[in-house]
Amino acid sequence: MNVNEPSFRDSVDMMFDRAVAVMDLSPGLKQKIKVCNSTYTVRFGVRLRGAIHTFTGYRSVHSEHMEPVKGGIRYAINVNQDEVEALAALMTYKCALVETPFGGSKGGLCIDPRQYEEHELEQITRRFAYELIKRDLINPAQNVPAPDMGTGEREMAWIVDQYARMNTTDINARACVTGKPLNSGGIHGRVEATGRGVQYALREFFRHPEDVAAARLTGSLAGKRAIVQGLGNVGSHAARFLSAEDGVTVTGIIERDGGLWSEAGLNIPDVLDWMKAHGGVQGFPGATYVPDGASLLEAECDILIPAAMEGVINLTNADRIRAPLIIEAANGPVTAGADAILRKKGVVIIPDMYANAGGVTVSYFEWVKNLSHIRFGRMQRRAEEARHRLLVEELETLSADQGLGWTLNADFKDRYLRGSDELELVRSGLDDTMRIAYQSMREVWHGRNDVDDLRMAAYIVAIGRVAASYRAKGL
Ligand code: NAD
Repeated sequence: MNVNEPSFRDSVDMMFDRAVAVMDLSPGLKQKIKVCNSTYTVRFGVRLRGAIHTFTGYRSVHSEHMEPVKGGIRYAINVNQDEVEALAALMTYKCALVETPFGGSKGGLCIDPRQYEEHELEQITRRFAYELIKRDLINPAQNVPAPDMGTGEREMAWIVDQYARMNTTDINARACVTGKPLNSGGIHGRVEATGRGVQYALREFFRHPEDVAAARLTGSLAGKRAIVQGLGNVGSHAARFLSAEDGVTVTGIIERDGGLWSEAGLNIPDVLDWMKAHGGVQGFPGATYVPDGASLLEAECDILIPAAMEGVINLTNADRIRAPLIIEAANGPVTAGADAILRKKGVVIIPDMYANAGGVTVSYFEWVKNLSHIRFGRMQRRAEEARHRLLVEELETLSADQGLGWTLNADFKDRYLRGSDELELVRSGLDDTMRIAYQSMREVWHGRNDVDDLRMAAYIVAIGRVAASYRAKGL
């Protein structure tokens, strides 16, 4: 990375500063919103393989204008305070933008999870969770983590169990963390949620021809060519849904060990199976292997989807990026310096704060489910079916009585009669959230002549809401 590149947190702060420069906020309130309220650093030892190993973890709380605060826990070897604070700040703005009633937080553990056996990871996770729980840095009412890079349902299940063991009378214990497996209080659709949100964000973008034209594109999402970096939780779902359901051709994939290229399009489930069996993309048949995977970020395509990690589009490669539209599925993939270069080139960027908000949105639904102690749709599903059946039967009787000869298509009947289950309700809530949040950004984007990009619009909407919250508290 270029030495002139600001750190991740400086990048987030610079983007914040750009937005507040055109907002009518007092300097004191601007500063209050910008700063990270607290960061707790923990160092703890775990006895593994006959020796004590010391681990360093963080939990950072950016803003408590709403509680609980929310944000994932990341397992990666390069986790540091600066990164965790940047991610916590992004969570504050993200939650405000998509109207989930949370403040922003983030956590991280410096660890390469691939170096440990499952039972070792469990020991480490439980110990990390213990340290956070005893300080209320994991708590259903105060601070609710979720998965992020390097963590998933398995780690969340260990965390909720650890919390329940330490808080045996807390009836809301399951709401202490989201992204859990279904049998530990999770919700249908959480694993796919962030990738699904990326798909819904792109669908919404392509509903607005004016916005599509701003990216020098035409037409609909169908037929567009995309490059995806990172086929993990977020990237794999986004790539799979976009190619299977929206007619997007994924021509390029970038992973840790290199990239794959196919003009005809890559079959995502096949690539995922290959990665599972071989630990990387190298050797995948039917595609060209590119050893310097990151070079594919610069290849020609309609939509670039960085879904791996931060800082991958930076001062060293920004001017060679050829995609006219970038959707930031990862957090912070474009540095502040690169952002300025890309804006000048006329590239439209759908910002992380919005693009990957599907995860926290469905986490919100999971938290509500845990607090209400009932699965979504449990009360309504059959009632909905009964009402629909009433209508269908009445139509069929009318048709028979009047000799009209109407017949309802069997597939339509089947789909119309079915009541909504939890997964359908979650997807519907997510779709609605992504549409409304996009519209709030585009109103600012097109409605103000001092705003010419979606990121600045997103910050303005989010900061405005956080400011209103602080004002309502009398600050
Ligand atoms: P993950 O660990 O499941 O997947 C990351 C993927 O990127 C892996 O397949 C990994 O091999 C690949 N990768 C890592 N380094 C790479 C590199 N240098 N080049 C190419 N590929 C590389 O993580 P995830 O949960 O999918 O998160 C990815 C990004 O999305 C992160 O920025 C995270 O903060 C963000 N995010 C995740 C969620 C969520 O719900 N999981 C929600 C919002 C945002």
